[in-house]
Amino acid sequence: MTPTVTIETEAPVAARPKVGFVSLGCPKNLVDSEVMMGLLHHNGAELTPRAEDAEIIVINTCSFINSAKQESVNTILEMVQHKRQFGGKAQRIVVAGCLVERYRDEIQKNIPEVDAVVGTGELEAILAAAGLTPSGHANNNSPFNILPQGTPEATIHTHAISMSQTDGEVAQLESNSMQQAGQNLIDRAPSAVSQHSRPLADPEHDREIAPQLRIVQSLAETGTTHGDEPLNHAGDHIVHTNPGSNTNLGAPGIDSDAWVSTASQPSRPEGDARERTGRFSRESWDGATAALPEYLYNDATPRILTTPRASAYIKIAEGCDHPCSFCIIPQLRGKFRSRRMSSIIAEAENLIKQGVREITLIGQDTTCYGEDLGFTDGLATLLDALAVLPGLRWLRFLYTYPNKVTTRLLETMAKHDTISKYLDVPLQHASASVLKTMKRGGNAQIFLDLIAKARRIVPGIVIRTSFIVGFPGETEADYKELEAFITAAKIDWLGVFTYSDEEGAKAFDLPDETKVPNRTIQTRRRKLMKLQQKISTKSKAEWVGREIDLLVEGESEETELLWEGRTSLHAPEIDGKVFINDFGPHETLVPGTFYRAEITESHDYDVVARILE
Ligand code: SF4
Repeated sequence: MTPTVTIETEAPVAARPKVGFVSLGCPKNLVDSEVMMGLLHHNGAELTPRAEDAEIIVINTCSFINSAKQESVNTILEMVQHKRQFGGKAQRIVVAGCLVERYRDEIQKNIPEVDAVVGTGELEAILAAAGLTPSGHANNNSPFNILPQGTPEATIHTHAISMSQTDGEVAQLESNSMQQAGQNLIDRAPSAVSQHSRPLADPEHDREIAPQLRIVQSLAETGTTHGDEPLNHAGDHIVHTNPGSNTNLGAPGIDSDAWVSTASQPSRPEGDARERTGRFSRESWDGATAALPEYLYNDATPRILTTPRASAYIKIAEGCDHPCSFCIIPQLRGKFRSRRMSSIIAEAENLIKQGVREITLIGQDTTCYGEDLGFTDGLATLLDALAVLPGLRWLRFLYTYPNKVTTRLLETMAKHDTISKYLDVPLQHASASVLKTMKRGGNAQIFLDLIAKARRIVPGIVIRTSFIVGFPGETEADYKELEAFITAAKIDWLGVFTYSDEEGAKAFDLPDETKVPNRTIQTRRRKLMKLQQKISTKSKAEWVGREIDLLVEGESEETELLWEGRTSLHAPEIDGKVFINDFGPHETLVPGTFYRAEITESHDYDVVARILE
């Protein structure tokens, strides 16, 4: 049972309301925003990139640590202030996402200007919150914000538009969009999306690792954003829209049941066991409801892409069953549940038809994928199926769990050229005693062996990981062990988070005397980042002279003298950058296009490239 959306006011809204969207947090939350935008657009709303034009403002929040909660609250207050200033226009404020799961009742009690709240398990309730009812629009075969059928190279254009964009600037961007659309044989109305990311912490040292604030403002005028069944629940029976996709999968040992959506969503035995011991309980949370989210979107759910052209995320699973004692995500997002493999493949096929060439699979833990559906090595099976889809250039998966990175998964990575040689495996610490209190297990040697094995099976693989410093009970010796591990492991991309004491997480109840002083936590983090800087500088120097495939993203945000791109060894937004200072034989470059390039310079985390062809 999912909770019902709470709407406190009946502020009138237009039949075709203009909706502005602010999306905070991680890519998983961004996909939720894209789904809500798709549902809104499909059911008659107009999406606007400008807060001053919006009659309804939706803030999709994050609340996994205190700083993210604070950002969410600040953003809500900023939008409330905006509503007061532009009272006539902004009629409703809707708060969605993780903050709602944590503080559902408290939000409206403490911020009465909030008209409705929508939790992570009730994305369809965004319609009621916006005063819309499902329209039953006629639809085509794609759930995305797309173009007429038969334009396989169609792409979604993106432009940066700020909240304070003038009419002239917007008109100019829309006109540019139309021109570009013409050049690319895209016959559709303009679409504009802006995304701004900024770190929550010291940008100088933490640019690549800090939690991100992302504001998405999407404008998708009269495009056809229609899903076949826009209001499917996880448990609905779905008639597959592309039955051909279930053949020639090249994935042996597939449980045929997993290709069909059924009326019930199974769960993992581990999740059931942990549920019985209270892992998902929200009893101690004031203002939260007891009901856990159960929602899963599918390939027929309308979705508006907000990522740069050529790239898209696919959320393959939701929720988490792990017992990590510092983490409240299982209480926020519910039990682990996998999407049907057929639905993921159909979504990937649709994305490729839209011109997407890089797909990044996400979930709280992608390596658990399929366990609830009866798969062993489900992620490897899924990768085998996706990697051979015609038109796909790069396939990547994020958020793996260390003891679930299997030999078969690594061999699958090595087997397919399309799978990025990139392993994101958050280790959280290297000291066995800290890992034990974290309820994660493992130790430095086990992790070193895993990294060595990954490097052996997948030559050239890059490793991304993240650590938490200052976890309760972390001694100087534990910290030194972590330092030694980082020195030995030579991690390619590293994030260091400071421990955040979260009410509701098991670690919150650890004795006060075990809590590490904030100053010590900050110092440890700074020292680790300095250590990593040296490691990274050295390893990036080894990139110089390499020829690489580069996905060009556009002009650099840092200077207009340079452009930026990514290799397959850079995940979107989180890793270092590839700056381009020489276009080679080209007058200009086309964002969203792959070029052959050579690395010519290196810096701490970034490299510089020149285009070869
Ligand atoms: S694996 Fe651990 S840290 Fe990650 S979402 Fe699950 S409980 Fe949280």
